[in-house]
Amino acid sequence: MLQIGSAALFKIIELSQRLIQVSTFREQGLPTLADITNQKCQLAALSRSLVVHVDHMRNLVKGETEPFAAQDELQPHPVPGMKNPSSALSFRSEETAVFVEPDGSQRCVELPGEFSDAPGSIAHHAFPWTKSRHDVYVNVNYADKVSADGKSVMTSPFALGEEHNDFRAAVADFAARDLAPHVERWNAAHEAPLEAIKLMADLGLFGLGGPEEYGGAGDFTSLCIAIEEIGKVDQSLGITLEAAVGLGINPIAHFGTAEQKARWLPDLCAGRALAAFGLTEPEAGSDAGATRTRAVRRDRKWVINGSKQFITNSGTDITLLCTVTARTGTRDNGKPEISAIIVPLGTPGFEVGPSYAKLGWHASDTHPLTFTDVRVPEDHLLGERGYGYQQFLSILDDGRVAIAALALGCIRACLDLATQYAMQRTAFGVPIGRKQGVAFQIADLDVMAAAAHQLVYAAAAMRDHGGRAEEFKRAAAIAKLYATESAVSAARIATQVFGGYGFMEEYPVARFYRDAKALEIGEGTSEVQRLLIARGLGLPVE
Ligand SMILES: Cc1cc2nc3c(=O)[nH]c(=O)nc-3n(C[C@H](O)[C@H](O)[C@H](O)COP(=O)(O)OP(=O)(O)OC[C@H]3O[C@@H](n4cnc5c(N)ncnc54)[C@H](O)[C@@H]3O)c2cc1C
Repeated sequence: MLQIGSAALFKIIELSQRLIQVSTFREQGLPTLADITNQKCQLAALSRSLVVHVDHMRNLVKGETEPFAAQDELQPHPVPGMKNPSSALSFRSEETAVFVEPDGSQRCVELPGEFSDAPGSIAHHAFPWTKSRHDVYVNVNYADKVSADGKSVMTSPFALGEEHNDFRAAVADFAARDLAPHVERWNAAHEAPLEAIKLMADLGLFGLGGPEEYGGAGDFTSLCIAIEEIGKVDQSLGITLEAAVGLGINPIAHFGTAEQKARWLPDLCAGRALAAFGLTEPEAGSDAGATRTRAVRRDRKWVINGSKQFITNSGTDITLLCTVTARTGTRDNGKPEISAIIVPLGTPGFEVGPSYAKLGWHASDTHPLTFTDVRVPEDHLLGERGYGYQQFLSILDDGRVAIAALALGCIRACLDLATQYAMQRTAFGVPIGRKQGVAFQIADLDVMAAAAHQLVYAAAAMRDHGGRAEEFKRAAAIAKLYATESAVSAARIATQVFGGYGFMEEYPVARFYRDAKALEIGEGTSEVQRLLIARGLGLPVE
């Protein structure tokens, strides 16, 4: 079994996450520069040499370089003409730079020395060989790739770099080797397999995106990659990971006190334990503000009464706690005050009901929960009193991108399965893939996978690099809506390609068909996503 500590893996990744943008600056060019400096860094594939794209129309030059020197390495040769060495970015001594002019012509230059490393700041340096002969500014940003033949290949801001691609390959390899051979057995058992959770934990997957001081490592994009790759093998395992991090760890990591984090996060990030989040109730799902569960403060304790339903990871042998939303009062305007409270499993009065008999996600853990005079210390309040609902809504934005990544895994699985089968299966003397009626539908799956990938990783990059909250909310809703509805279509198409075999349990495509539907429901239904998107457009939709 492959064992990679996520911290170790991401140390390597972080060291190589350095990109630069070089912009020319004229006296009138300040607004352009301001625009550029507002953008946040996004890693892109690292090329062998610095590549600088000169755009005279916009006074813009973009660049990227191979991994920079670590901060503790010597930087002996300051770049001539650099005015503010302490605030510039680094690139290696004697770097070869390729300057690509707008007409496609290129020139290579040697860049002696290194800039120091201070992301977000600006240095400038005269590069007299550019046609515009203006000062060149260096700042953190994403960059363009240059292909092996030197041609410019525009990449989007979220282009995944070698580090993310290597990470993806490691997770895909692990999933194919250690999980795939067992997923049918695990699904047939109708419970979350602790042996699979342990394998994912050993790989460091539960710490992805979590705080480093508690064993977390990597970024949100890595978490999405892991969920996608695990979900490509089995959706149940994918949702187990997604819920463990998105619903279990994230609320505590974002809103917990130092004591709460220190108490709960080490075990959760290590995957030794799972946490759940109970928002949904029998009478409150999409309308989560209609929560009926109540918590009253008495004798320095919260006394909780109520019930939750459909709660993922709430009843495994390693479930540690469930964070629940509860009414803790009534506001002046008559609306309920809703707070979030951490309830450890095993607290008297906290009952986990039997597993649901679900249509799909058979190897994931889902239970109803009841709370009868459950008493927890008052310091189990998560975040500020009265902000439980808002906190959860912000957590859900991340969750929607993560569910979209899970859906992308489903689409890719359907694409692979359908493609392979269409090449092998013959009808009327030829492989069914020769029939346009089959081949064109599989082509559509490829389009879905490509489009969902763009939406998922654009949103993930926004999350990692500080996109504006309302833009991220919109991007998350769009990604979730498109990817999950596409996953349902993809599963239907792939099952159809398999004909009668597609209806048989022994074919994985049948499992994906069953599993896909939940994607359109969990963490906000498709209708709720459309509502959010429409509201974002300013429509007065209810
Ligand atoms: C397998 C599984 C795991 C889950 N895990 C968790 C978990 O860990 N924690 C948790 O808290 N919840 C969990 N859920 C619950 C899930 O988030 C809810 O089921 C979901 O939010 C929908 O709520 P509901 O089921 O009450 O449906 P309802 O809200 O009753 O919706 C019923 C239908 O009405 C539509 N609808 C509702 N309001 C509107 C509107 N304003 N406009 C248009 N259409 C509308 C919905 O889109 C839906 O089609 C899970 C659900 C499933 C199936």
